[in-house]
Amino acid sequence: MRHDQIVKDTSTQSTMDHTHGHTGPEPASEAANDTGERAIWPSMRRGWRNKCPRCGNGSLLKGYLTVAKSCPVCKLDYSHHRADDGPAYLTILIVGHLMAPLLHVVFVTWRPEPLILFTIFAVGCVALSLYLLPRLKGTIVGFQWARGMGGFATHG
Ligand SMILES: [Zn+2]
Repeated sequence: MRHDQIVKDTSTQSTMDHTHGHTGPEPASEAANDTGERAIWPSMRRGWRNKCPRCGNGSLLKGYLTVAKSCPVCKLDYSHHRADDGPAYLTILIVGHLMAPLLHVVFVTWRPEPLILFTIFAVGCVALSLYLLPRLKGTIVGFQWARGMGGFATHG
């Protein structure tokens, strides 16, 4: 997923999507509601929790990182997602910006043995990356669904 792709997709979407004048607050219900606007934050939150961005009930991923074919509950076709390397990019961005300053602080404060420092940070980086990767993937798929990017605009 490239950045210019996001910008292009969202800009074309915003011109198309404002035809129905929804000004009132979104209903709080998490039930399947595909006729109204697709709220962006709830969709991303459901994706983070490995849930279908539309109904919030069916699981999004099968296995660790593979996006399932469709939602087992509301039958939303997941195949339109284009997360590509976006989740990996965000994971590296977040883990790098957390761990690099932390490495500096730990080294300056405690001056640990190099091998101890390396071991702690190696395990920490891998663990945090493995934690974030599937969650960020779900978040990105949720974002793409909410903005109607790619095939999500016309299907699902
Ligand atoms: Zn669903």
